[in-house]
Amino acid sequence: MNNKFEFDPYKALKSILEITSFHTGDEFIAHTAIEIKKLFQADLVYITKALDFNPTTQVEVIFSTNIKVPKIIDLDGIPGKFVFDNKIIRIKEHVKYNFLDLLEEKYESFYGIPITDNENKCIGHIAIYSKLIRDLPKELDDIALIYSRKIQRETRRIELEKENLQIRKQLEEMIITDTLTTLYNRRYFKKICADIFAQIKRDSTQAVLSYIDIDNFKNINDKFGHEGGDLVLINFAEILQEQSRKGVDYVFRLGGEEFCIISIDTSLDYSYEHMKRIMGLTSNKFLKTKFGEITLSIGLAEFNKKFNSYEEIINLADKKMYEAKNSGKNQIVK
Ligand code: GH3
Ligand code: MG
Ligand code: MG
Repeated sequence: MNNKFEFDPYKALKSILEITSFHTGDEFIAHTAIEIKKLFQADLVYITKALDFNPTTQVEVIFSTNIKVPKIIDLDGIPGKFVFDNKIIRIKEHVKYNFLDLLEEKYESFYGIPITDNENKCIGHIAIYSKLIRDLPKELDDIALIYSRKIQRETRRIELEKENLQIRKQLEEMIITDTLTTLYNRRYFKKICADIFAQIKRDSTQAVLSYIDIDNFKNINDKFGHEGGDLVLINFAEILQEQSRKGVDYVFRLGGEEFCIISIDTSLDYSYEHMKRIMGLTSNKFLKTKFGEITLSIGLAEFNKKFNSYEEIINLADKKMYEAKNSGKNQIVK
């Protein structure tokens, strides 16, 4: 069956403009494929991205109008292979006899358009299949290449956006992380304190601040060097992390050998037990090492509406911690 293909370049350009102004990202790619299918009166359209180069042997399908098309396609055996020589390929008939049929749909004709990057390297293709024998007019190529260029721009934009997001996430993480222990740092401590204080002013959230200072830490540095001291800090941070409940306990290193845990939805009594467990585990863990017994002095303070600022709560927990120090260390004061 031969088919006289009617093509309206005005309609084509109008549809390109509409897609570009209404859609971005993956949605843009999807709408472009669907538009191409309509415009070129095709039975199947898919858009790919090359997975390797020189030569390209495999492509990833980034959108297909038929979901049965595999996600990864080997180019060997399909007409898309020739598009990766960076050429528009038109096959009028007999695709079903000469090539592998991905969907067993008995396609007759194929129209393939390369997608190229800024250096004119072929990085993907648009595959357009029809079950009809078709001699596509040459003037279609200009329109097809406009689509291809638009897809390339949008794909690049999506990639850049993803990269930016990733970099931003990494930066945000770096800003709030203590490099030695990978716990949260003092900067984030202030922010969480402020957030929780604002929240308890609004509702009945309960939260406790535990201020932890390692006893006689200077001795460890003196005996085992600064590196030995660092190792103790790292191992101690691990205990704190292991003993914290995700989303409930925030663990910070404020600097030196001073740590804090902020526990939300938690009472003073619960935090007291929590800290006792941490003291026991710390003692056990280090007794088995060359560092010997390590003890902690801990002060607890409850976040409470009666305070004027979160700084008052920090000061109270710090004061309680010093009370623990002054009463002979290795204890908790609440
Ligand atoms: P106390 O029982 O009263 O808490 O005495 P302490 O020795 O634990 O406390 P002090 O504040 O006298 O000494 C803390 C030491 O911690 C002093 C400082 O050199 C050391 N320090 C601070 N930051 C670091 C660090 O990042 N790594 C190591 N290894 N030592 C640190
Ligand atoms: Mg200290
Ligand atoms: Mg100390």
